[in-house]
Amino acid sequence: MDIKKYIASIPGFPKEGIIFRDITPILQDPEALRYVTQTFVDFVKETQADFVIGPEARGFLFGVPVALECNLGFAPIRKPGKLPREAISVKYGLEYGEDELCMHTDAIKPGQKVVVIDDLLATGGTTQAAIQLVEQMGGQVVGCGFVIELDDLHGREKIGDIPVCSLAHYA
Ligand code: 5GP
Repeated sequence: MDIKKYIASIPGFPKEGIIFRDITPILQDPEALRYVTQTFVDFVKETQADFVIGPEARGFLFGVPVALECNLGFAPIRKPGKLPREAISVKYGLEYGEDELCMHTDAIKPGQKVVVIDDLLATGGTTQAAIQLVEQMGGQVVGCGFVIELDDLHGREKIGDIPVCSLAHYA
């Protein structure tokens, strides 16, 4: 399937100079959604992961169906102030300023092998923070799945040797 047919490109959103890649047409089409989910399911099985995580909010949209289909659990990665129980956090740099991501401290068990699922890999800051959160809890990220990868931003360099599965590439 040519999944790019289901990705809308919106110039100037959320600000001038940015082309936003919108994955909502995938969600609107059951065949496209099934194709993306099944591709990630095959990837998760290859990695022999035993848990799935995803950053808010679009990582949830793909991560949860993939976890369910693999008969694995899922945990959310969230912005500060959203998780109700004890959590750990990691700060990471943005082009201007910094951001922070959090997970519940009991989300990952020591030794667990984890796949990160998100809609888009840009600079890799989000995924790098996710990897650090997993490692702080004694787990290991064994794969990262993205619907879209923005190649020119070189996010893969922040992911290192961990296997990556991306379904669509843009400059
Ligand atoms: P990174 O941390 O790799 O620079 O940015 C990736 C995060 O930003 C992902 O969680 C993704 O949801 C969000 N993101 C950044 N730009 C876009 C975009 O153009 N489209 C979508 N769907 N998400 C984006």
